[in-house]
Amino acid sequence: MRVGHLNCGTFGPPFVGEIVCHVLLVETGDGLVLVDTGLGLDDYADPKGRMGPVRKLLRAQLGTEATALRQIEAMGHSAADVSHIVLTHLDFDHMGGLSDFPDATVHTTADEHAAAITSPDFLDKRRYRPAQWAHGPAWKIHGGRGDEWKDGLTGHEVLPGITLVPMPGHSRGHAAVAVDAGERGLLVHAGDAVFDASSYADVSPSGAPLTKVGMLRTFEKTVGRDRAAIKRNHVSLRHLNDTDGITVLPAHDKRILDALTAPS
Ligand SMILES: [Zn+2]
Repeated sequence: MRVGHLNCGTFGPPFVGEIVCHVLLVETGDGLVLVDTGLGLDDYADPKGRMGPVRKLLRAQLGTEATALRQIEAMGHSAADVSHIVLTHLDFDHMGGLSDFPDATVHTTADEHAAAITSPDFLDKRRYRPAQWAHGPAWKIHGGRGDEWKDGLTGHEVLPGITLVPMPGHSRGHAAVAVDAGERGLLVHAGDAVFDASSYADVSPSGAPLTKVGMLRTFEKTVGRDRAAIKRNHVSLRHLNDTDGITVLPAHDKRILDALTAPS
């Protein structure tokens, strides 16, 4: 399957540097599939209501041309061409674009759906933004661990060649999303299972050395739910990334997005 890499939202929190929202656009026999959405048009129209107070800390840089919808329209597609959206988790910066694709089937884990929507605990109530799913997405909820996948991990193959791999830690039901990109191998969108790419790799896909980004790691610890699980996820992601034919990509590390979108 052909896979494109989009940046669907840019943030500039103090001392961290530019943060991107890395979204995959997959062309399948059954229409377009998005892995995460980044921010959507409604987030830019109502930043306070849709993103809440954290938007000030993150310093969202507004610009609707960065939404997945506007980017795929610029390619000649329409919203109706997106048939499925597979989410790593339901934080606002990963699913704000759902309302731009109201007809798409939206895949998530049962644990993440529960954390955000049906049974949020005290912390979750402060975390997720109900306005972002007020339009009533067509959820497809995947319960349990799924089938054996790789390296002791399990997954749900939600569409042919696209697997939701539960990886809780950042949030209660977080998952990575593995996409079979044909000759490019397997792309593993790690979402927020890792922030600083140097936590799982020594070099970027372009071969450039990756140095540690301390502020990104501090941010990761601050917003994550389970630090022990996050550490285990980093080990799993390093193992995957070290495997021939597998490329791991975090949602927010600009260095990896730049390497994967650089002209070859
Ligand atoms: Zn995020």
